[in-house]
Order: sequence, then C-alpha cells, then structure tokens
Amino acid sequence: MTTTPRANPTADTLATIDQWMQRLADETDQAAHSADLTRYLQTVSRFYSYSAHNCMLIAVQRPTARRVAGYRAWQALGRQVTKGAKGIAILCPAPIRAKTDAGDDAVIALRFRTGYVFDVADTDGADLPALTVHAVAGERYETLLHRLIEIAECRGLRVSFKERLLWDANGVSYGDGRIELKATNPAGNLCKTLIHEWAHERVHRAEDRHTFTTQQAECQAESIAYCVCQTLAIPTPNTPTYLALYKVSRATLAANLDAIRAGVAALMQEIAPALDLDSVRAA
Ligand SMILES: [Zn+2]
Repeated sequence: MTTTPRANPTADTLATIDQWMQRLADETDQAAHSADLTRYLQTVSRFYSYSAHNCMLIAVQRPTARRVAGYRAWQALGRQVTKGAKGIAILCPAPIRAKTDAGDDAVIALRFRTGYVFDVADTDGADLPALTVHAVAGERYETLLHRLIEIAECRGLRVSFKERLLWDANGVSYGDGRIELKATNPAGNLCKTLIHEWAHERVHRAEDRHTFTTQQAECQAESIAYCVCQTLAIPTPNTPTYLALYKVSRATLAANLDAIRAGVAALMQEIAPALDLDSVRAA
C-alpha cells in the first residue's frame, strides 16, 4: 500500500518518497543513455542558448517561435531557410579586441550588432530528430484534470489553456499564480504538467526564481510532480527523459531531495484534503 505524503511528512511518507526517488534515478539513468536522447541532444547542442533579453526580443517578434537558429546553423542541421522568410532580429555581442602592453589579445569593450535568426517554421529540409512523447489519455484523466484545476483555482492559481506556448512548451508557470497549459495535449499528460507548474508556483516564486539554476528548478518541479502523480496513480512515462534532457543525474536528485520532499508535502497538503484519494486511485 502507498503511504500518502501529508503536510508534516512522517518517517513512513519520507521513506516512500525516497523509494520513488530511487526508482526515478534508475529510470533517468536509463533515459540518459538511450539512443533517442543522444541523437536529440546532438541536435539541440547546435542551437545556441539565447540570453533573456534576446528571448524577449524573439517572443515579441514571433510569439509562435518553436526553435530558432541562424541561417548557417540551419544549413548545418540539413535545413534551408525558405525564400522570403523574415528573420527575427536579436542582439549579438561584438567584442572589440586590442593588444595589451604585454602583447596579449584582450577584450577592451563590448558592442552589440543586430543579427537575424529564423524559426523552424521558416525552414525546409531534413526532419530534426524528435523525442518520443508517450500519451496518457482517457476519461479518468479528463475528470481528474478538471478536478485538479478546480482545486488549483481554489488555492489562488489561475489556469488557462493555449493552442501553442512559446518554445513549444507543454506548460508555463509565471511565478505570480498564472499557469498556462498546452490545450492540445492529452488529459493525463496535462495532469502531470499542471502539477509540475503548480510546483514551480509554490517552490520558485517569481521574486526568488533567479536564485535557482534552470536545472535545479526543473529537477525539483518535475520530481515533485512525479511523486504527486504516484499518489494519484497518474503514469509519468515522459519524466525520465525530461530530467535527462536537463542532465539531471542520481547526484542531482540526491542534492535536491530535501526541496523535493518539502515540495511534495506542500502540494499534497493542498491537493489531498480536496480529493478522495482512495477513489481517485481506484478509478
Ligand atoms: Zn518547468
């Protein structure tokens, strides 16, 4: 029998969470070594990671952007920018170098020039390797999703659906109570995404988000969602790959264990009293 984590987790519930985390570590290890992920990461490594300012510039000019790269980067990936495609302007650092007295080459100033990137929608050619996403669908999850949204909103969160989110994300948490979910995803996947974004809202508020690295924040939110989903009998077949994408290892999970335990307890304190857990699990 599964012990349900409560607000003040007992030794039993902590042991249960730790068991789940051991299993998650095994599954993530396996996902990290899959051929699927290796191929995918090789491609992703060719995409430059843009600064927050450039992400904003991209979002303003092309809210539907999914993957952006420069003209030549697309060519290297086997895709050609289509004729007449409009580039998205970003700022590229252009360091000014000079020789020091010691004869070394040093950066003496940093200027910015305008560069252009293109969204994948403006390119043609070889398909980019994609990761397999497992669908979790069914009436049971539709009912549960509806109920979870009601509970989230009772607890002050505001959940909305969008056809498409920036970077093709499945969900977004703004850290101020707003959560957006991708409308076209199956209900079971959306249950997990809602709980993931819910965890971000509780553990990574907008004002202190900068104190977490992306890897820490994603490791914590996804692991909290994984454990909460175990208590609600929601399958989480995509979680190991998601964590492996952020290079989360067994050691990362262990380093974040306290935050994960606290997050699971906090979310279950909000969710459990509003649900009849036995009938949810039996449904
Ligand atoms: Zn996240």
